[in-house]
Amino acid sequence: MITISGKSVFGGVSIGKLMFYKRNEKVIKRTHVDDVDAEWVRFQQAKEAAVSQLKGLYDKALEDVGEANAMIFEIHQMMLEDLDYLESIENIIRTQEVNAEFAVATTSDNFQKMFAAMDDAYMQGRAADVKDVSERVLDILCGVNEGMKAMDEPCIIAADDLAPSETVQLDKSKVLGFATMYGSSNSHTAILARTMNIPAVIGLGEALLPDYDGKIAAIDGFTGKLYIEPDDETMAEMKEKRAKDLEQKALLEQLKGKENITKNGRKINVYANIGNVSDVGTVLKNDAGGIGLFRSEFLYLENTDFPTEEQQFSVYKQVAENMAGKKVIIRTLDIGADKQVDYFGLDKEENPALGYRAIRICLTRPEIFKTQLRALYRAAVFGNISIMFPMIISVDEIHQIKEIIKEVKEELKAEGIPFKEDVELGVMIETPASVMISRDLAKEVDFFSVGTNDLTQYTLAIDRQNAKLDRFYDPHHPAILAMIKMAAENAHAEGAWIGICGELGADLELTQEFLNMGLDELSVSPSMVLPLRKRIRECE
Ligand code: PEP
Ligand code: MG
Repeated sequence: MITISGKSVFGGVSIGKLMFYKRNEKVIKRTHVDDVDAEWVRFQQAKEAAVSQLKGLYDKALEDVGEANAMIFEIHQMMLEDLDYLESIENIIRTQEVNAEFAVATTSDNFQKMFAAMDDAYMQGRAADVKDVSERVLDILCGVNEGMKAMDEPCIIAADDLAPSETVQLDKSKVLGFATMYGSSNSHTAILARTMNIPAVIGLGEALLPDYDGKIAAIDGFTGKLYIEPDDETMAEMKEKRAKDLEQKALLEQLKGKENITKNGRKINVYANIGNVSDVGTVLKNDAGGIGLFRSEFLYLENTDFPTEEQQFSVYKQVAENMAGKKVIIRTLDIGADKQVDYFGLDKEENPALGYRAIRICLTRPEIFKTQLRALYRAAVFGNISIMFPMIISVDEIHQIKEIIKEVKEELKAEGIPFKEDVELGVMIETPASVMISRDLAKEVDFFSVGTNDLTQYTLAIDRQNAKLDRFYDPHHPAILAMIKMAAENAHAEGAWIGICGELGADLELTQEFLNMGLDELSVSPSMVLPLRKRIRECE
């Protein structure tokens, strides 16, 4: 048995086969070929195999996510038949007498650059598609399998680290746990693990060897330990721990339907954070009073192109309808920093967390923002939707947002499309600037939601993605607590309500303090809803 220690991200025990996340990394070499005709045929066979894979994907997507979302696989098939694309590959093979892999990779690079340089955002988005289809052909030519897509039994995913876009693509029903070499406890993958109720340990370091692929392992999400091939004693201990944990969870179930009320009668709303429409099931299962943060950017991360107004409308509508009148706070897109999407064509930045992200993208690329706002205002007809804006630093930004909302409403009205006139609006308090001007901000909006993950990062000058800084990252820092208190006082002074949607909201050691500050709402990962409700009922 091998024991590796890391940091726990979410309590719970999972036992299963360890499977390493494969990124299909290939090294494409330029090699000389004598028989160019045979090489061209080899390419055509790989292309045909790719088209047939895409046909299969289209059929699966049609069943899982509907025609509009499945379309992308049809477009990818068409791209592989594109005459310019094929001509470029054939020319490179024949004139340079080189291997098909090199010809595909070169053509892919050239076409990507060509699309990325176009002015039109839609055409820029095609660069990611060229990359996708070319990678598929290259995988076939190089004999690389399809990585995690081939996961056919539930397993513990091991990786160096996972990008948010990689995590969202995993088949969640097959993920028993996460074990990563790096990553920080505040990263989006960690948040996702908590949302999905999945035991996870991070920061296991180099000791997590790829040799362990396929071996039986156990994650102890309480102690942050990963056991490879646990001995009989450890296995028995893990099974017992898992049973106790499940027992505890069953106990918490009894709280369902009960009010979130302290011993002396103070009520507080307990909502849940989600990143996807499929998370609504766990929100309802955990009996949350609403959704306090829908990270809408995951819709963008899951797509290979900008999600259309109709796609977004149908997702927001579905969430609102499923929540049946309970509050659903949807945050407008927070792309940038660690959440990168190829088709946005964003430049590499020195300091992405301090860079072009969130509302800054929306205000400078209003066409993207307007599409989302149109979808939100339309979907608001079908439930209790509120909208909130991330990374706010000035009142002027709110004025600009309101101006764009006005235009959106006028356009919808002129087009005769139904929408809700009065949607509750809020801002995220996640920059020190927003705290300091919170009195003025509160005059402009209906509510605040404190994003403690970023507020801590920006206040303590600690990169939330940097695992080395975890020991300096003190979420209980008096500066953070003072800021939340200040924002709460200013919100209430102007008749606005205030909640927390950052991870700190689930910190049960602080629940009493949050109640003392007069917070009106706490929004936490679905798996933390019941423990938090239990804690509230124990508070004064
Ligand atoms: C936060 O910053 O606390 C927050 C809730 O937003 P995100 O974690 O998505 O940046
Ligand atoms: Mg944030």
